Amino acid sequence: MERRPPVGTRGAQRRARPTGNLRDGPHHYDATVTQDGGQEITDQDLILMRAALAEAQQAASAGEVPIGAVVARDGEVLATGRNRVLETGDPTAHAEMLAIRAAAERVGNYRLTGCDLYATVEPCLMCAGALVHARIRRLLYGPPEPKFGGVESKVALGELGLPHRLTVVSGVLADEGRELLQKFFRDRR
Ligand SMILES: [Zn+2]
Repeated sequence: MERRPPVGTRGAQRRARPTGNLRDGPHHYDATVTQDGGQEITDQDLILMRAALAEAQQAASAGEVPIGAVVARDGEVLATGRNRVLETGDPTAHAEMLAIRAAAERVGNYRLTGCDLYATVEPCLMCAGALVHARIRRLLYGPPEPKFGGVESKVALGELGLPHRLTVVSGVLADEGRELLQKFFRDRR
């Protein structure tokens, strides 16, 4: 999976065109897309993404496509998830869905206000929808996912005019997330 060439220079930020009327209130999708090495990534973000990568590794060990996710608030892990579609026979048992469900259960609210989601690869269309419903504050992920990616690959999530404001940081530890997937599919041949 090759990264699409970044818009602008490495480390540069691209603020997506806001949709709708800015005076409508706070519910604007405001996707700030930061490419690899962008300045919005903190050491804590990297620690949390490594936790998501560890989940992905566990998925691989269980014979599942290695994708992991973490939901955190103020740096504290609320829930983790890993891809479990084979184990559960559930096509919605994606890492992000399971992490969002567990986090919502833990906080007792379907709105995960102030929460950040870390995913080892670009979330699919279903998961991108779920994290908007969950009111996730920031989404951080690794490499793009060209087949099902619902943030930048198949659709530009920031341009759909959805009623929620969300910051997107892509390319976080992208090589590691990509390598897990590539190794998994290589080994299966
Ligand atoms: Zn998904």
